[in-house]
Amino acid sequence: MDERTGLPVVTMIGGGQLARMTHQAAVALGQSLRVLATGPDEPAALVTPDVVLGEHTDLEALRRAAAGAEALTFDHEHVPGEHLRALVADGVAVHPGPDALLHAQDKLVMRTRLRELGEPVPPFAPVAEVADVTAFAAEHGWPVVLKAVRGGYDGRGVWVLDGADAAQATVTELLAAGTPLMVEQKVALRRELAAVLARSPFGQAAVWPVVETVQEQGICTEVLAPAPGLDPARAEEAEELALRIAHALGVVGLLAVELFETEEGLVVNELAMRPHNSAHWTIEGSVTSQFEQHLRAVLDYPLGATATTAPVTVMANVLGGDPAPGTGVDERLHHTLARFPEARVHLYGKAERPGRKVGHVTLRGDDLDAVRTRARLAADHLSTGVWSDGWTAHP
Ligand code: ADP
Repeated sequence: MDERTGLPVVTMIGGGQLARMTHQAAVALGQSLRVLATGPDEPAALVTPDVVLGEHTDLEALRRAAAGAEALTFDHEHVPGEHLRALVADGVAVHPGPDALLHAQDKLVMRTRLRELGEPVPPFAPVAEVADVTAFAAEHGWPVVLKAVRGGYDGRGVWVLDGADAAQATVTELLAAGTPLMVEQKVALRRELAAVLARSPFGQAAVWPVVETVQEQGICTEVLAPAPGLDPARAEEAEELALRIAHALGVVGLLAVELFETEEGLVVNELAMRPHNSAHWTIEGSVTSQFEQHLRAVLDYPLGATATTAPVTVMANVLGGDPAPGTGVDERLHHTLARFPEARVHLYGKAERPGRKVGHVTLRGDDLDAVRTRARLAADHLSTGVWSDGWTAHP
């Protein structure tokens, strides 16, 4: 507890944009988020006064960050399980706990467990040699999707293989580099959805409306909330599925269930147990944001309402421009705010590199196409300094 305020201290491991936006929510609850950051320039370290510098792979640094905190949680999945077990043994309230978190760290463990639970997952198999991939493809057909079992994000760690030659080359190289691999069927997906909820240690859970996540080259570019045209029965199915998974795995805090929608129904792709890009829209688009809800959940506070605040909310990610924009971020921000006064802009304080998530924009309204067009224009302008519709402020 912070003696000055009488309010709890939550530690977040990792100082990225998720920690930065969680700190923003912590401020409203009277708190200040403590973060373990690897350097003072990380997005969250730039804004919270309570920064512990160190590596998430260093148990001693984790212990320093946990000292005196009511709960310890995460901005990413990369803390080794044995360190988390050591913290639990010290008496630290680690949320989600290591047994739950394992299912967000290891795709093979996750797929195996969900299949055991009877939840829908694509056919998959572990890969120890090239022959495992060719045998899988003989049964399920090419192309197949090869995945790094651990450590992938934003599509890094995902390879689509269209035949035996590609499998030979890619699998040989990755196994030689020591990357643990699995293979799965390439799902004929209509689109990608996400069901996001929070669950508290008490067992209370609250789920947001299911959203559509638009991906380009493995990176989420837009989130449409709620998912347009989604059959209400399928939306309910997705919410129930996410709730079942959260309870079965004992998740505490946020759980994002990334889903594929196919002709036949829903299939689970990924689990994330932390605030997630697919729910950034909740900052403006829901009564309770995912960041506040995550704090409430890990502190075992009552959860907040998850109703929407508008018929349509669209979040568009701001990716680092390629090539780098000719104007500075301040100038691009100025012009974006001038053209779209209703846009809510979130910049993460990160150096811009091509394709890197450096911010996002959220717009709300009644008409999906209109809101989406404006969100896209605003985010693209922040990325590139160019109005993609040719608009000019000074005709
Ligand atoms: P990461 O952990 O890097 O985000 P994901 O497993 O979520 O990786 O995959 C990234 C993207 O690759 C997904 O959003 C989806 O577009 C595509 N993808 C992944 N697995 C499959 C699959 N089995 N079939 C079809 N597309 C897939």
